[in-house]
Amino acid sequence: MRKKIVAGNWKMNTTYQEGIDLALEINKLVIEKANKDVIVVVSPPFTHISEVNKVVDNDRVFVAGQNCATETSGAYTGEISAEMLWSAGADFVILGHSERRSYYGETNELLKIKVKKALEFNLTPIYCVGEVLAEREANNHFDVIKEQTEKVLFDLSKDDFEKVVIAYEPVWAIGTGKTASPEQAQEIHKFIRDLLVSKFGEAAKNTSILYGGSCKPSNAKELFANADVDGGLIGGAALNANDFLAIINAF
Ligand code: PEP
Repeated sequence: MRKKIVAGNWKMNTTYQEGIDLALEINKLVIEKANKDVIVVVSPPFTHISEVNKVVDNDRVFVAGQNCATETSGAYTGEISAEMLWSAGADFVILGHSERRSYYGETNELLKIKVKKALEFNLTPIYCVGEVLAEREANNHFDVIKEQTEKVLFDLSKDDFEKVVIAYEPVWAIGTGKTASPEQAQEIHKFIRDLLVSKFGEAAKNTSILYGGSCKPSNAKELFANADVDGGLIGGAALNANDFLAIINAF
């Protein structure tokens, strides 16, 4: 069955104590008020992961890393491995976020390795795809998303593919307050699903495809109402526990 997922990407925000306090607040609201059908994920900075995992109810709130290394271990100063994330309590890892692609030069080739590494250490990758504004304006967005999807995921075994979550995040909508319309989101989500079905068959009908890009309490309902939108990857609004809860309950 296709899972509904709402994942909060905290990015490089919150000091250690602020992060733990936010996790506690989210956890309390989720336990008391959240729709139990929705898988809730929080993605704090690396330094907070272990403690966040300890303070939340591990049946209701799951923890994600925001990135992982291509290598397993060794002389890679500053890197965090998939195994380290897993050993600190993470169940998910966000990979291919547009900020990683644009500021840190992460390519589809590199992300293909990271997705496999995450799967090797039992992390569920939340693999992000999405076009920049110029690509949409040039009507290239389908090609860009096709390439990001095929180059990174098409080499996976069917078993591994079934563990992957995808996030469609139009880059022009991230942190800009500009959201894709429900029709634009559905069009791309269906395009991605059809592409995945062409490669992996029926299994792709169970893949969760999340929308990300200025998703907030006021627009989550109309986005999540679409047939191929299975939840959201949330940036700014995930830093406010009440807004995050409202998005979780928008299904
Ligand atoms: C994100 O960075 O993944 C994101 C969707 O950010 P925002 O919700 O702030 O646009």
